[in-house]
Amino acid sequence: MAERKDSDSRKLLRRLRETLAAPGGGQDRLDQITHHIADSMGTQVCSIYLFRDADTLELCATEGLNPESVHKTRLRLGEGLVGRVARTGRHVNTANAPAEPGFRYMPETGEEIFSSFLGVPIQRVGEKLGVLVVQSRDARQFSEDEVYGLDVVAMVLAEMAELGAFLGTQSDSLPPAHRFPTMFRGATGQEGVAEGRVWLHEPRVVVTNPVADDPQKEKARLGEAVAMLRTTVDSMLAEADMGKGDSAEVMETYRMFAHSRSWMRRMEETIDLGLSAEAAVEKEQSQARARLESAADPYLRDRLHDLDDLSNRLLRILTGQGRDTGAEMPDDPILIARNIGPAELLDYGRKLRGVVLEEGSVGSHAAIVARALAIPLVIHAERITTEALNGDPILVDGDMGIVHLRPEESVAKAFRDKMAMQAEAQSRYAGLRDLPATSTCGTTIQLYMNAGLMADLPSLESSGAEGVGLFRTELQFLTRTRVPRRGELAALYAHVLDNAHGKPVMFRTLDIGSDKVLPYMKPQDEPNPAMGWRAIRVGLDKRGVLRMQLQALIRAAVGRPLYVMFPFVTEMNEFEEAHRLLMEQIAREQRLGHAMPTDVRVGAMLETPSLAFAPRKFFEMCDFISVGGNDLKQFFFAADRENERVRRRYDALNTSFICLLEQILQRCNEARVPVSFCGEDAGRPIEAVTFAALGFRRLSMRPASIGPVKHLIRRTDLSELKAAIDAARAAGETNLRRTVTDWLARN
Ligand code: PEP
Ligand code: MG
Repeated sequence: MAERKDSDSRKLLRRLRETLAAPGGGQDRLDQITHHIADSMGTQVCSIYLFRDADTLELCATEGLNPESVHKTRLRLGEGLVGRVARTGRHVNTANAPAEPGFRYMPETGEEIFSSFLGVPIQRVGEKLGVLVVQSRDARQFSEDEVYGLDVVAMVLAEMAELGAFLGTQSDSLPPAHRFPTMFRGATGQEGVAEGRVWLHEPRVVVTNPVADDPQKEKARLGEAVAMLRTTVDSMLAEADMGKGDSAEVMETYRMFAHSRSWMRRMEETIDLGLSAEAAVEKEQSQARARLESAADPYLRDRLHDLDDLSNRLLRILTGQGRDTGAEMPDDPILIARNIGPAELLDYGRKLRGVVLEEGSVGSHAAIVARALAIPLVIHAERITTEALNGDPILVDGDMGIVHLRPEESVAKAFRDKMAMQAEAQSRYAGLRDLPATSTCGTTIQLYMNAGLMADLPSLESSGAEGVGLFRTELQFLTRTRVPRRGELAALYAHVLDNAHGKPVMFRTLDIGSDKVLPYMKPQDEPNPAMGWRAIRVGLDKRGVLRMQLQALIRAAVGRPLYVMFPFVTEMNEFEEAHRLLMEQIAREQRLGHAMPTDVRVGAMLETPSLAFAPRKFFEMCDFISVGGNDLKQFFFAADRENERVRRRYDALNTSFICLLEQILQRCNEARVPVSFCGEDAGRPIEAVTFAALGFRRLSMRPASIGPVKHLIRRTDLSELKAAIDAARAAGETNLRRTVTDWLARN
């Protein structure tokens, strides 16, 4: 880049910095800035458009256009060349603006005499704030250096806006960044509603010095920080001890980015133009974010995420700003994060009122933990980490997958009404706690709860559940950096049993693989992990961990009954093998002279359609069977339970699925083996009452569902409902939801 250009640019940035430092209102500053930019770029016009609301841009300052149009001229996102720059996040550079597609002439500005146009987005790490435009009379195409230079200026403006430089006497007409009520439409990760204040898992880095005088010094600072970053990344990757395959490749790319010369060179060039090291990093990050938004290829998106992550680390090194900003967590925190691991979420624990993630999935570890903590979770709330600030008021609607950030009072009021209604219903259900779930025809259904954490156990008492029908043991494995020791597990399981106060707890052995990948396990390169090497398949192939877990369970249950169930059994012989392995461990413990559980009951999870057709001997061998409806449904309908597109497409009340459940019940009854249903559907009242009508006598669900399910069962005549279901089936109905809901409404 030419030496003269560099010094011009630095001179301009210095003037901007002086403007920022001088006392005065926001409008004055904007006016001065447009003047300085036009002067430095040699153009007749310089204008600043800022977002008035999420869809509208407003002309906020101009040098060269009609001053009367300031705060009057408005454009919608995508409208005209300015709107195009705002929407795409990319510059528009043309010598003949009226000939550009989408050009829109705004007569009140008097811009018709200006032929050339260069507009660049004013954005800060993905957050769009407005558009900076220069125009001139002569038909001139701006050079690459000029475009780059204006980009740098826009970047500084974005930083100044972030620092509140434009909030002044006329603040109502100036950029209300982070002040609009904004709604995010995501997806349900965990139902429930909550009101609270934002707590950012990773607070934004604040750059207070976008402009710097001494490029050599800034480059040296950048060099030092990058060296530090490289060392951290290298040791992080060495620790991760990656195997081969895709993940190793991905980590290598991460390392490659950290060592990228071109990344470094681009940042150094920006520093030469007058930016500080921090601002140079942010400029790169902003561009990566803009590209990320338009990238459809998931691989490319992941790589851009890596670059974003590296930029964040680098910024934290440069500014010395860690996660701990000294801000105080509000009393009613709603956690906002791009994504979060199960261990980190558990660390926050029950303090949180709710969680909102930009990424995540229904079956992710975070979702499992949120479920265990019984806090609403919304996933896929795109861009919320950019918009939300610590302390912002926020409403989370986990039922609808919607988040209202800085809500209007009317929205907050409607939301509070909904919360009050839910609270009222909960207190009504609390009154049923000690009553049995007996239908009006005299059938009693046992209601159990699902659990996976020590933190779940208090719900056993408060919900009135008769026991834990499914204790998922994955979390203790997922939240550690190494395989937990037998002693640790035995102590934990014993603690669970102590806190169950004699109520039965059905421990399910480790169900890893599929979406639940242990951090210390070599990741498997499987195209379809849900149908891959998971659960009992892993347990039987690599017996060490399963043996250790069984020994821990036996030791924990000394002097009391032990219930063990094996997940994802597909064929009878898998159950036989697992059963034998358990018996061997019991014999071993006896040999070693350890005391024994009073009774050992061994069950299987029925979650693959094939097991419904297993030989009768299988059913006879089991002490109990639990239908894992989440997996059973996904394999029956061939619809991925984690894929938002197809997840809700097939209904548990589809007649074919109901027929499958009825067959399972029949086979279990023939073999006199107790059967329960423990998938998510058991916790939905309509589904629960249908399963009870079919003949399920035990259902296991989230603790919060026990009240509503019990309430409905207690007012239902199950035999009459069964008759209505049979009649609908005979009449050829392919889905029974309508039949059941209509019948319930009438009765
Ligand atoms: C199921 O598949 O229904 C089940 C209860 O197990 P998980 O949800 O843990 O796979
Ligand atoms: Mg399952």
